[in-house]
Amino acid sequence: MKKISFGLLFLSIIAMSSFAHPGGHYKKQDLSLLHHWETRINNESIVGNYLMSKNDFILIEGIEGKIWRLSAGSITSNDKKYLNTEISNINLKNGINLPLISDRVIRTPWDFHYFFQLALLALIAIGFYFLSVFAYKNNYRKQWQFAFSTMTICFIILFFVSCKKNTPVTPSPGPTDTGIPKSSTSFIDSAFTPYKPSISTSWDSTYFYVSGGGFPNHNMMIGITSWQQQVPLPQAYTGSNHWSIPLQPVYATTPLSTRYNFMKGAVAIAVNGIPIFNALNNRGEDSYAIGELDNWGGHCGKADDYHYHAAPLHLSATSGLMPIAFALDGFAVYGAKEPDGTNMQSLDTCHGHIYNSGVYHYHGTTTYPYVVGAMKGKVTIDPTTPAPENQILPQAFATPIRPPLTPLRGAVITNFTNPTSTSYNLTYQINSRNGHVNYSWDNAGNYHFEFIDTAGTTTTADYHH
Ligand SMILES: [Zn+2]
Ligand SMILES: [Zn+2]
Repeated sequence: MKKISFGLLFLSIIAMSSFAHPGGHYKKQDLSLLHHWETRINNESIVGNYLMSKNDFILIEGIEGKIWRLSAGSITSNDKKYLNTEISNINLKNGINLPLISDRVIRTPWDFHYFFQLALLALIAIGFYFLSVFAYKNNYRKQWQFAFSTMTICFIILFFVSCKKNTPVTPSPGPTDTGIPKSSTSFIDSAFTPYKPSISTSWDSTYFYVSGGGFPNHNMMIGITSWQQQVPLPQAYTGSNHWSIPLQPVYATTPLSTRYNFMKGAVAIAVNGIPIFNALNNRGEDSYAIGELDNWGGHCGKADDYHYHAAPLHLSATSGLMPIAFALDGFAVYGAKEPDGTNMQSLDTCHGHIYNSGVYHYHGTTTYPYVVGAMKGKVTIDPTTPAPENQILPQAFATPIRPPLTPLRGAVITNFTNPTSTSYNLTYQINSRNGHVNYSWDNAGNYHFEFIDTAGTTTTADYHH
């Protein structure tokens, strides 16, 4: 009898550990393929992809076959949204109909059914305890051995099962949503006012909107030493493609770090209508440190869209002590000074602080992470974009008029002029020889490019929008 019981115990331990999956599908170099979850287990962050789910739990597979088991009741709402998209995609691809996480009846470890099972096991263990005491006192040696070992096994199983079920995934406690007043639209508007009329603003009860043409009120491009050959072209950040700043910021349960998130799209919008992207480019490199940025902290993306990656601290010359940007979670970004003109107070890991027991704000600085270290406020993530190349919604999108170009090795941009309101001349230098890109456009959407390389050869290209 004793042997059988120990055999059972052994088998159940084997069953518990059989979820381990050594080797696995993902290796360290696959990190960028993996989703970064907002839900945490014992404060550990989870990086992995959805593997499978049952009614009350889901399995996530990370690198080297590491498996996380999340109880469905503990998953944050953003993660649920992501999971539902994943499950919908699987359903669509396979023509099946797995239930979405949001439609499931969630059983927590401490619901009545589960508690009842544990209690029953505990009662049996206690029963065998009394039996073994009785057998021991009356000198029934064999019966005593049996009762004692059964009791021990019951307690061991109880211990294992309750430990196992008792490490439910609890989102780490964050600040509560209460206490953040709704942002004043007249205050936000006054931050954008110095840059009108090249930008325009409007708002409703949910968002403050910023429209513009994608050009700042300062020169661009000069100072770039690592150039992708993209140049600033007008962008239609207008109509429904405007920038949106939420008027009611809400603290995130777990602020999402910009080191592992948001490498696509903007994280903030500067008060001159130019978007601010992650300090890391889409290859995970510090754009500023590797010379990709001009003297104003910006450059152009694959759609020839001008944007910053560093903090546009130069805007303080126009903006004074007003914010220089607003993050897409709704919190303001200030420059090197506090709103009252005193020196910047110390920053938290999100790159901001609660100012004078009032409202949270970020600061722009000259060192990494420059603007936002982690999103203090809740943001909605485009569920089709996996981290780290996930992007915040809503945001405005740039439209390319030509295929993206490749880096031009050794080129340093030395001059950029604007001879008319619809043309630019760019000069670059390679080994002290000049090259040029001169381009112009008209209101009908025709774009003309003239490229003069450092050997003096001229080529042209025309595009129509
Ligand atoms: Zn960029
Ligand atoms: Zn501050």
